[in-house]
Amino acid sequence: MRTVSEPKAYLVTRPSVDWEGIAAFLEDEGVPPIPESIRAGKDESAVVVEISARLCYMSYGRGRKDITNFVDNLLSKGDGSVFEHVNYGFAITGVSRALTHELVRHRAGFAYSQRSQRFVDESEGRFVLPPALADGRDGTEEAMALLTDALESASASYEKLVTALEEVLPKDIFSDWRDRRKAIRQAARAVLPNATETKIFVTANVRAWRHFIQMRGAAFADWEIRKLALMILEVLAVEAPLLFGDFTVEDLPDGTQIATPRYSKV
Ligand SMILES: Cc1cc2nc3c(=O)[nH]c(=O)nc-3n(C[C@H](O)[C@H](O)[C@H](O)COP(=O)(O)OP(=O)(O)OC[C@H]3O[C@@H](n4cnc5c(N)ncnc54)[C@H](O)[C@@H]3O)c2cc1C
Repeated sequence: MRTVSEPKAYLVTRPSVDWEGIAAFLEDEGVPPIPESIRAGKDESAVVVEISARLCYMSYGRGRKDITNFVDNLLSKGDGSVFEHVNYGFAITGVSRALTHELVRHRAGFAYSQRSQRFVDESEGRFVLPPALADGRDGTEEAMALLTDALESASASYEKLVTALEEVLPKDIFSDWRDRRKAIRQAARAVLPNATETKIFVTANVRAWRHFIQMRGAAFADWEIRKLALMILEVLAVEAPLLFGDFTVEDLPDGTQIATPRYSKV
């Protein structure tokens, strides 16, 4: 039986701007070009926010001159819709089905593609150890033994169910061997536990990621998804410091961490 105890979140997509397009738009509209001072170095996420936000009032070349101050003002006022233009995508592995069931409850601004248990054989799959056990706390040895027994038993039952169904499911009721294999795996997965590892590709806009991190990075959230939320925050705070820099991370006495934004639900 293979287990995993840490999620991995690979940033695979980020926003980019077309400076020529921006220049052409501003020139055609007869407004001043975006001054260098307003650009936040190599981080183009804030530029997307600025271009879209200024369009509302056609305020290019006017008002706030500093991008940090500009974005902070939007966050503090809760002008969240402009953050929807900035998207980041992560390939996430080493997470449980329990975690992704919570993750996919986040609807607005999210897109998901998840590994299928009907198409992919789970007999070689891994199980995710819950942080309370995986972190090797004193006194959890017996609980770990119970968990391991349960996971091994589930894994063995899955394989037995696949074999049993291979023998009895008639071939002639399926138009294609793939449909039969799918029927077998979709039935056998009934015995797989919440701890079964899955992989999921998640794209969300900044407004949605902020909400996710606030909800799932809070003390009342499950430890596993909280760990993921903090991991994503760590990446995004580097990618887009102006859009995620208001979150603070704290250590709790139980050894876990929480993330709290200065600006709630923008
Ligand atoms: C600690 C914790 C415990 C939880 N426990 C449970 C539980 O026991 N049972 C359970 O079922 N769920 C539970 N949830 C899930 C929770 O109820 C939400 O489904 C989940 O957090 C997604 O939040 P959301 O709807 O705000 O996010 P999103 O779906 O991403 O929506 C973001 C925001 O958009 C707006 N919005 C989205 N859709 C609509 C809509 N259709 N109509 C109006 N406004 C909309 C809302 O303002 C919403 O906050 C829990 C969540 C947390 C963080």
